[in-house]
Amino acid sequence: MSQIAQQIAQITTELLPNVTLVAVSKTQPLAALESAYQAGQRHFGENKVQEMTAKWEQLPKDIHWHMIGHLQRNKVKYMAPYVALVHGVDSLALLAEIDRQAQKCGRIIPCLLQVFIAQEETKFGFDQVELIAVLTSELATQFPNIRIKGLMGMASNTDDQAQIRKEFAGLKQLFDHFAHMNPTAFDMTILSMGMSGDFHIAMEEGSTLIRVGSRIFGGR
Ligand SMILES: *Cc1c(COP(=O)(O)O)cnc(C)c1O
Repeated sequence: MSQIAQQIAQITTELLPNVTLVAVSKTQPLAALESAYQAGQRHFGENKVQEMTAKWEQLPKDIHWHMIGHLQRNKVKYMAPYVALVHGVDSLALLAEIDRQAQKCGRIIPCLLQVFIAQEETKFGFDQVELIAVLTSELATQFPNIRIKGLMGMASNTDDQAQIRKEFAGLKQLFDHFAHMNPTAFDMTILSMGMSGDFHIAMEEGSTLIRVGSRIFGGR
């Protein structure tokens, strides 16, 4: 078994029930993705549209491609035909563009709203007040070609486990709030949180999807 296959098998045994593993393959060569694919991995995450599209063109078509990076509006059109889930939506303007490109492709594109939960200034996302404004607007009718499937967040880059846990718990609370508040307008079933260093805490706090790169593929 390749190193990559071994890592995937190991992480799979660590997953809590109903958690999806997305293999974050950004900057990795095609051969690395092929190893993961042969090990049964079907969900891959990338943070650059061009790189993801080049890989999509060359790899089997039953792969689910997750856009996990900060997204520029002018790049949306390249991935609209095939992207499985857009994690990092952090503005209404971006939602509008995804809706527009999805319509051109005759698709409904599932999206997650990125929420700012970390202490750092550098992480993208809506804050809590903005999120409430977005989710209580007439989104579902305004953008018929997107579907808000849930929330995504990144915890602070810190060794303080209690801090990380607190941030994930806060996001889970928001997620539950919206899932219960308006269950018909959205389909809030996905909570994307947890990376190589913190996915166990994230799962314990209610994550349904973890994005794991370096633990599968090694350093970048
Ligand atoms: C790179 C990246 C990951 C994976 O990070 P690892 O620490 O390598 O697991 C997860 N989520 C996002 C948004 C990323 O950019």
